[in-house]
Amino acid sequence: MLESVARQALLSGGFHTLERTFPVINPFDGSTVAQVADCGESEAKEALEAAVTAFSTYRHTTGFERSAWMVKWARLIRDHAEDLARTMSMEMGKPVFESRGESNYSATAVEWYAAEAERIAGEVVPSRFANKRAFSRLEPVGVVYAITPWNFPAAMIARKVAPALAAGCAVILKPAEQTPLTALLLAKLWLEAGAPADTFQVLPASDPVPVSKVLMNDARVRKLTFTGSTEVGKLLYGQASSTLKRISLELGGHAPFIVFDDADVNAAALIVSNSKFRNAGQQCVASNRVYVHESLQSPFEDAFSGQARGFKLGNPLDNDTTIGPLVDKATLEKVQAHVQDAVAKGAKVVTGGNATGGLFFEPTVLSGVAPDSRILTEETFGPVAPVVPFQSEADAVRWANTTEYGLAAYIWTRDLSRAFRVAESLDYGIVGVNDGVPSAMAPQAPFGGMKNSGVGREGGRWGLEAFLELKYISIALP
Ligand code: NAP
Repeated sequence: MLESVARQALLSGGFHTLERTFPVINPFDGSTVAQVADCGESEAKEALEAAVTAFSTYRHTTGFERSAWMVKWARLIRDHAEDLARTMSMEMGKPVFESRGESNYSATAVEWYAAEAERIAGEVVPSRFANKRAFSRLEPVGVVYAITPWNFPAAMIARKVAPALAAGCAVILKPAEQTPLTALLLAKLWLEAGAPADTFQVLPASDPVPVSKVLMNDARVRKLTFTGSTEVGKLLYGQASSTLKRISLELGGHAPFIVFDDADVNAAALIVSNSKFRNAGQQCVASNRVYVHESLQSPFEDAFSGQARGFKLGNPLDNDTTIGPLVDKATLEKVQAHVQDAVAKGAKVVTGGNATGGLFFEPTVLSGVAPDSRILTEETFGPVAPVVPFQSEADAVRWANTTEYGLAAYIWTRDLSRAFRVAESLDYGIVGVNDGVPSAMAPQAPFGGMKNSGVGREGGRWGLEAFLELKYISIALP
């Protein structure tokens, strides 16, 4: 299936081969997975004209018609789940068992929004005048520009494109440079489901700027939906202002995990481990700081480092691999820098701590980390967890909230009052209580962050509303 999208972009009526290509590199062994079309300004202009035309008819389809295409699309995603999973693993190094879960999540998200497409409706608005009838109506926002990162090559697309298509929008997607093949495969399946051409176009690009400039400057693009770093999100937020595009931004995170003194140490260690080391720590919602009550520090570090040592590093395509390589050299260097900085400031490596060749880094637990260490203030995006002891609940909550980010936070406690009190005190968009993966298989739940972690929410009805305009219609009866 992969060969069918090699060297291609999907725009203006179908797949096109371009002269300009760039390679997709497998981070496991540096091999070239495939070449893909390298889109620029002219492809963006072409895609935009095609999207505007497609939108002019797609917007008038019924939610029931769109739902039917989406149901078929979801079925095709399930039929090709293994192809998609292997492609993701080759593009960015995720263990294939995780990629299979991501294929499944993507199909589930499409199914959920397929059902929602049938429920898009307005409301009757009461009138003060006997001869007037009024109501509200929900309409698609227009042509959507979507930009996605490499760390969840299918899920990030499904979470944006499914609600946009359910709403009746036409989407132009610029996937991450590392993972365009998964994006092209998903769009190919949308076409195979019989959906109208140009409602979902994909422009792979080695340089995001020329494509972005065309789409961000054009007033006919009514919505930007972006997932990626806070730095790029802020840049795009500024660019969106000149044409007053509606925006959704899913940005960086720096999640705290607070383990209270009533915790079951082994259960907590397992949950922190799942939250930290999934996708080798390359997740926006990964626990980046672990605060543990001082009375549990030693047993928790033992249990947690036992979990960390249980991971198997290897070829992402092997079924028993649980940690793959990091996505690229820059990511590996940042992880190494965070560990070196912490150690230079007095931290002890409890387990791991080493790059083991290629782009691999061992699952690592650090203890005695100084408060001014980079790892306690910056997103690491790698398999390293600093464990920091605390004495009081107030300290733990204050430290957890002392960050520019506000995406996900986690706590472990058996005290119900404390669970509510602390969950309500954390300045985060998502809180997991004894749950290290609160968003797993939950496209129906709101997903997104406060502060520098973003604007708006994906998931659930909130994720659909982000692609809908509200119109008020008042009728005076003659
Ligand atoms: P990134 O550098 O911001 O890239 C994300 C996307 O933006 C890529 O498609 C990238 O294209 C594109 N891009 C980069 N510069 C651009 C520009 N000047 N104009 C237009 N597009 C541009 O982020 P990343 O390193 O790939 O992803 C990791 C970040 O994403 C982390 O901070 C992580 O926390 C965040 N993230 C957040 C969520 C969430 O839901 N909150 C989920 C996953 C990841 P190229 O690939 O061509 O550079």
